[in-house]
Amino acid sequence: KLAEALAARDPKDLRSPICCILGHVDTGKTKILDNIRRTNVQDGEAGGITQQIGATYIPASAVESRTEELRKGRQFDLKLPGLLVIDTPGHESFSNLRSRGSGLCDIAILVVDLMHGLEQQTIESINLLKMRKTPFIIAMNKVDRLYKWNSVANSPIQDAMARQEEYVRKEFEDRLNQVMLQLNEQGLNVALYWKNRDPRSFINIVPTSAITGEGIPDLLQLVVKLTQSLMVDRLMFVNSLESTVLEVKQIEGLGTTIDVVLVNGMLREGDTIVVCGLGGPIVTTIRALLTPQPLREIRVKGQYVHHKELRAAMGVKIAAHNLESAVAGTQLYVAGPDDDVEDLKDAVMEDMQDIFSSVDKT
Ligand code: GDP
Repeated sequence: KLAEALAARDPKDLRSPICCILGHVDTGKTKILDNIRRTNVQDGEAGGITQQIGATYIPASAVESRTEELRKGRQFDLKLPGLLVIDTPGHESFSNLRSRGSGLCDIAILVVDLMHGLEQQTIESINLLKMRKTPFIIAMNKVDRLYKWNSVANSPIQDAMARQEEYVRKEFEDRLNQVMLQLNEQGLNVALYWKNRDPRSFINIVPTSAITGEGIPDLLQLVVKLTQSLMVDRLMFVNSLESTVLEVKQIEGLGTTIDVVLVNGMLREGDTIVVCGLGGPIVTTIRALLTPQPLREIRVKGQYVHHKELRAAMGVKIAAHNLESAVAGTQLYVAGPDDDVEDLKDAVMEDMQDIFSSVDKT
């Protein structure tokens, strides 16, 4: 069946890439996503702590409008339906997902603080990305903190650079060169993205400010361009389910729900699903298939949109009975008419073993 689904793929029918944001604490991961969403999740959170995992869907139209100034009238040949951005993976809650060999993310943004250079979790993130062979872009964040930086909100980064006094540019270059050396020491070849002639061998750096929004259009455009040009094979929609449970949550009026990332394939209301539970496999039926409004965090309270069916890639909330003991970080399966539920139960529990064995190792 998978072979059939693979044969039916069409290079014109791409799914949204899944993008993760990684980096040391306080480098600006939350603020960058916040700036992209232009809402203020951070301020609504107790103590600004973001240890949960959320996902934000950015439709193509939002990418298009945000990159308008950058394109200066040129058309954006957008082939993707949008981007699905997985929010700050808090170190603990992400460890389950990390252990999954398949790797959830198609591309990652590694955030580095221009003023601090590489820090402990930056290096951990780099090692993780290398291990998973996940392509990534480096956001060299907080450029607005350069002394006497002259900012214009949301402007493309090269325009921003051109606006600076000579000595500001000089400080930028000095700091950038330092961080580039540190990256070289980690075995990474890197280049400013507009000087990068060989994106297959050199990792792109985009200077950004999450506060002023400078460079954010460049970051968005680059994620889209790289994925849709270099990853077509991986991004072709496959009508075969691939889905990971991110979180198990109690929601008023809905009971226990699971937040999942639908990486590929489709989910439908009424589907029989099999998920991993602490006490053994759970077989249940999807009662409601929900998404937040576009450009909103999956975990933000409020109105959900109900769907009859959903197509990857998407962050989805599933309401169903018996999800209380579901385990985050595991795969979700749908039992189709031809599937043997017992086989799926076995598959689901194998995931659980993987998680425990990788926890033992760390
Ligand atoms: P995270 O831990 O990586 O998610 O970092 P946050 O997004 O919470 O940001 C940490 C701190 O750095 C907050 O006080 C932000 O306001 C600040 N910050 C983040 N990005 C920038 C930036 O581009 N410029 C400046 N000046 N401050 C920033």
